Amino acid sequence: MMSAKTKHKVIAIQNLWSTKIQFLKGVGPANAAKLSKLGIFTIGQLLEHYPRRYEDRSKLKLIAELSDGVYETFRAVVVNVGELKSHRGLKIVKIAVRDQTGLAHLTWFNQSYIKNKYKQGMELIISGKIQRRFNTIEVNKPDIELAAEFNSGSGRIVPVYPATEDVPQWQLRALLRQAVDIIQISAGTERTESLPADIIFQYGLMDRLKALASIHFPADMETLAQARRRLVFEELYLLQCGLAYLKQRNKYSCTGVKHAPDGALISKIEKSLPFTLTNDQIQTIREIKADMEDTTPMQRLVQGDVGSGKTVVAALALAKTVENGYQGAMMAPTEILAEQHYHTLARLLAPHGVRLAILTGKLTRRARDEILAHIKDGIIDIVVGTHALIQDDVEFKHLGLVVTDEQHRFGVRQRARLEAKGQQPDVLVMTATPIPRTMALTVYGDLDVSVIRELPPGRQPVATYARGTDRREKVYSFAVNQIKAGRQVYIVCPLVEESEKIEAQSAVKIYEELSTSFFKNYQCGLLHGKMKSQDKDSVMAAFANGEIKALITTTVIEVGVNVPNATVMIIEGADRFGLAQLHQLRGRVGRGEHQSYCILLSDSTNEETIERLKILTQVSDGFVLAEKDLLLRGPGQFFGTIQHGMPDLKIADIIKDTDILLEARRAAQQTVCTPEYLDTVWQTLLNWFGEKFSMVFCR
Ligand code: ADP
Ligand code: MG
Repeated sequence: MMSAKTKHKVIAIQNLWSTKIQFLKGVGPANAAKLSKLGIFTIGQLLEHYPRRYEDRSKLKLIAELSDGVYETFRAVVVNVGELKSHRGLKIVKIAVRDQTGLAHLTWFNQSYIKNKYKQGMELIISGKIQRRFNTIEVNKPDIELAAEFNSGSGRIVPVYPATEDVPQWQLRALLRQAVDIIQISAGTERTESLPADIIFQYGLMDRLKALASIHFPADMETLAQARRRLVFEELYLLQCGLAYLKQRNKYSCTGVKHAPDGALISKIEKSLPFTLTNDQIQTIREIKADMEDTTPMQRLVQGDVGSGKTVVAALALAKTVENGYQGAMMAPTEILAEQHYHTLARLLAPHGVRLAILTGKLTRRARDEILAHIKDGIIDIVVGTHALIQDDVEFKHLGLVVTDEQHRFGVRQRARLEAKGQQPDVLVMTATPIPRTMALTVYGDLDVSVIRELPPGRQPVATYARGTDRREKVYSFAVNQIKAGRQVYIVCPLVEESEKIEAQSAVKIYEELSTSFFKNYQCGLLHGKMKSQDKDSVMAAFANGEIKALITTTVIEVGVNVPNATVMIIEGADRFGLAQLHQLRGRVGRGEHQSYCILLSDSTNEETIERLKILTQVSDGFVLAEKDLLLRGPGQFFGTIQHGMPDLKIADIIKDTDILLEARRAAQQTVCTPEYLDTVWQTLLNWFGEKFSMVFCR
């Protein structure tokens, strides 16, 4: 364990880290409020406001050399400060500057205070986008530093921060200069290192203070690279330690449910399955059974591409817990899905005497109370449900297994709440969004992973086409022909991320249009997020039993829905969706014996967009697509759609920093096996990653 001495020092640094930003000179209530808009409340947060990029000012230009449209930096002297009014009443501050090669004009609109800041004769370092017009050079809203300060202070490589109107670049630089100076003063007196000495040595890392100072004010590019590597390593290492720690803790808590080897019920069910399992399914089920038969609580993630057959895997796991006298729970993100799982499970398991119930938000009070009573006294073996499952009044007699489907829709916290309803139940998490390996290591590092990659035999890949909206008519008459041949069709309306209401309105409009034109001879259905759940259910049921031929819908259809007779998926405004999402949508077809089609309609002329849609027409493997999606959209957006409750990575980029990630992971595993380190790391973890982090790890 840590000595008392080190503990004290670590805490002292933490104090500085969490000291309010007002502690700095020049930050009063007004500035603090402005900084808070950048998410900066403390000195620690300021220090973690890392530069977005750097400017190498050893490469200062002369005015005569400035090129139009380019972001450039030059040194010049103020020759005139003036303000004029445009004909539309805008106030324009105009400052003329010159060097030995020419004259340039700096302009600001409606920012009169600027004119008091600069006086004739001042020497400035000016950065901004150059506009050359005829013989004049103009720079609008440039970034300015006094040459005197520039020379003394910041060195040649200058940080460029994410800034706002209210908190300009120069102010951020000044504040960071101050903060970096303060932490450097404490260098001699404090233990400022957060990582174990062995790790620093072994991985050749820069020390923490130097790294923090250098990430903001690097002496040269090489130092900057070293500083960044150190900080990225730290961030990923702490994350990996948390994940490895959880896994370790789980491994040594021998208090889980120990299931017996397969008995009569399992073998009866396996014999009566309507199909032969694929090799990947068999392997996954084997891994699950081994986990369940062990005393260590199972913590397993099943990643399976859409249509790979995850439900039957869940069914067998649930049956196993029932066979052992326990109860199972399965949580799905939407009512449509819960309903569907309930029916699938009932079909597979009820004939063998397993008692199932469904618990969703729409049950009447009485029905709900009755089910709750039966769950509590153990009459019900398996309960399927939505978030309704995690309400406080849901009590199990002896919960042995928790399955969550489409995990990315749930916060980790919700999963934990369901798990808490049993005594260390086994946990199975299923996701249909394949996650690239690097990301899986970051998000799911605490889980064991099974992968179902293989699709059931006989599945033909969905033929996918990207089409301009000028081909819309053709596309719809193709769909009509499919209906004539007995098949069914999905039409997905454009995504409106900001507003479910607007999305619903657009769905209604498209429904009205299509049901009176192309599909006027066929039964159409409408499904969107703003409908009452009863209405949604009846539409879904009518589509599932083939009554409705064309279903006009929004992304509520995205996950899990299984109607094998549907063979056409038309996506309007396909450019608005991410690759992973389009792949999910496409996965709604190609679930039966018939050749299926996915048509991506878009009138976008943006080259990137066209390229993105083209990838989908060429690639049908969800894992490959996920990698590409991550590359195209970057981790931020990708995470956003995948997982909530993931700690923000402040500096690491899990795509570009894969090498460091793997190193950090190795180091973390080493640390977790060295208990005297773990305490330090754990403290650091909680303090530096804050609330979000404890949400993920303190369960
Ligand atoms: P997902 O992994 O997307 O949840 P499902 O579990 O809904 O996939 O299965 C998709 C379809 O494939 C279902 O109709 C299911 O009955 C069928 N299926 C699953 N496994 C097999 C198999 N081994 N052979 C044939 N069909 C299968
Ligand atoms: Mg599914």
